[in-house]
Amino acid sequence: MALFGLPGVHVPHRKNTADSETVLMPPPETVVIPVVMHIGAPAKPTVKAGEVVAVGQPIAEADGFISAPVHATVSGKVQKVEDIVLSNGSSAPAVFIRSDGEMRRWEGLTPPTVETLDDLAKAIRDSGIVGLGGAGFPTSVKFTIKDIERAEYLLINAAECEPYITSDTRTMLDDTGLLVRGIELLKKLLLPKKVIFGIERNKPKAISKLKQAFAGGEGVTVKTLPSMYPQGGEKVLIYNTTGRVVPQGKLPLDVGVVIINVTTLAAIQSYIETGMPLVSKVVTVDGSAVAKPMNVRVPIGTPLADVFEFCGGFKSEPFKVLYGGPMMGTTVPNLDVPILKNTNAILAFDVHDSIAPEETPCLRCGSCVGRCPMRLNPPAIAKAYSQKDFDALGKLKVDLCMECGVCAYVCPANQQMVQRHKLAKAELRTYKQAKEAKN
Ligand code: SF4
Ligand code: SF4
Repeated sequence: MALFGLPGVHVPHRKNTADSETVLMPPPETVVIPVVMHIGAPAKPTVKAGEVVAVGQPIAEADGFISAPVHATVSGKVQKVEDIVLSNGSSAPAVFIRSDGEMRRWEGLTPPTVETLDDLAKAIRDSGIVGLGGAGFPTSVKFTIKDIERAEYLLINAAECEPYITSDTRTMLDDTGLLVRGIELLKKLLLPKKVIFGIERNKPKAISKLKQAFAGGEGVTVKTLPSMYPQGGEKVLIYNTTGRVVPQGKLPLDVGVVIINVTTLAAIQSYIETGMPLVSKVVTVDGSAVAKPMNVRVPIGTPLADVFEFCGGFKSEPFKVLYGGPMMGTTVPNLDVPILKNTNAILAFDVHDSIAPEETPCLRCGSCVGRCPMRLNPPAIAKAYSQKDFDALGKLKVDLCMECGVCAYVCPANQQMVQRHKLAKAELRTYKQAKEAKN
């Protein structure tokens, strides 16, 4: 039985910046680079205050299998290494670098030699690349999974289904050559039977450019999909492009799929060709409070305040500022927080677009159940969570919730499901760990 299907929801696209060519932002006065911008163990800082660094130089080393190194994103002097509070409320060391404005490349940069899958995994690890579609999972881990040669499908996630965000679209339009060469390399190393680009049909220019670029490419399909949020959810995209269901607790590779975000693919190929690790990001800057919405290439670690200023500042008082899109993005506490490796958009909204309507009692209308792409039952989860019934939460498979926000979007009672599900998942994890420790 499929654990999820196709429902989802039509959301306003608001891809206002799709045609705005990416503008290169000059280095800010200071970058603040956290050592944890990924899922897994924080990297360990390797520089101290007073050291002079150049762009691409390692400043923190990966600490464990699921971790990623961090590199200087501007040239200049390390001011300090100090804990900062991240947007999720946790704290972690960050390297503060005062830019000298020169953007000098580090002399130690050399393109890697990639002839085998092991070479590829090592190169990706050295590059510091993490899932750039939002998750931030260290990408090298995907290429070190046992039996990766089983992959029948190489699936490129180009759906970009969140409203407003167009940074992946810009990658497809501006870096098509990197994508073509990246696919050639992955085809040679992984030997998949099929390569599929999964892309929503609201990106006609990117679709046409990809189709043209891969016209002679054997085994590469550009699959146009309905613009139906959350088309880019990993399991949703796998199902909608291959018909395969990733069972609970299993990986895409268990159903023969390796899936990678389109901008991540371009970043990998860029590193292989230049030796320059992940030091900058294309970020969509938009929202009702932003004076000049646009796409900008920004050094990682640039404070949000500098990025908004570069985009003409605010035309109205920003009331709510998000990392990411309006469906899955997270609110930032202030504008001092930096652009992270997996930041694909920053959105600032005025008060009219920021106040959530008041939550009222559930009407039992069933809309959320019918629209959930994972076939979950939010009202039942709410009941189990209010009773702290963790066995029931387990049976209701709350841990399958991908926090897409579709249920909350369609709810006429304005129920705050996503926050509740995040808490329920965290508490269920703790409950299971405590239970295992007892046994
Ligand atoms: S947030 Fe979770 S429960 Fe709600 S629609 Fe998405 S997957 Fe389903
Ligand atoms: S959509 Fe809202 S009101 Fe309707 S059943 Fe779900 S939680 Fe209740």
